[in-house]
Amino acid sequence: MLSNSEIARYSRQILLLGKNSQIKLKNSRALVLGAGGIGSALLPYLVSSGIGYIRLVDPDVVEESNLSRQILYNAEHIGALKGAVAAEYLTSLNPQTEVDWISGRFSNENYNSYVDSMDIILEGTDDIQCKFLVSDISIKKNIPAIIGSIGNVQGHVFPIAAKTGHACYRCLFEAPPVNEVIPTCATEGILSPLPGIIGSMMAYLAVDLLSGNNFLKKIYLMEKGGWRTISLSQNPHCKCCL
Ligand SMILES: [Zn+2]
Repeated sequence: MLSNSEIARYSRQILLLGKNSQIKLKNSRALVLGAGGIGSALLPYLVSSGIGYIRLVDPDVVEESNLSRQILYNAEHIGALKGAVAAEYLTSLNPQTEVDWISGRFSNENYNSYVDSMDIILEGTDDIQCKFLVSDISIKKNIPAIIGSIGNVQGHVFPIAAKTGHACYRCLFEAPPVNEVIPTCATEGILSPLPGIIGSMMAYLAVDLLSGNNFLKKIYLMEKGGWRTISLSQNPHCKCCL
């Protein structure tokens, strides 16, 4: 059921999706890893779209160098935990969404408690190991996931639909690099709007999935100001999803 207030708030989206799909969004639970640049666009759109519950995980505090692209925060937040600031803002943006936050990192040791009862995992950290772990857990637990990645002037959005013949992260990238310095925003630089574009695309795909549609078997690449999509099949040599 939707209240009169919810019907009013989501009226333009309901015109497109219908009430039943809006109810599906209301009953949906999303795990979001990372409240940085990608999360700064992803989280507000998830909340404003009417996702019912969000569990946000981030270990960091706000730093001045974050402010050029992590638009959930301003100078008054420097030194504060990102999860706390983000949760307060998101609740004010839409009190109809419940937002929980955890100051921590998603890991092999704790993932069970984080993914428990979640309908989707949305990964927007700057940790390459976390992206592979999310992909593995998505397959193992049969929970859809979307992984977002950025660097310099490019990024990608990688949806994983778990047990539906969809490729996983290892089908394309196999394994995280070993003994290699991984480029990050701090070392390579980043164009300020890019994480917002990637986070918005992740929110779009998440709302599409949670309202009743399926992921397309594609990876979305953002390069030099334009989108490119690549059709993706399972790698017959993948040790994870086959
Ligand atoms: Zn695979």
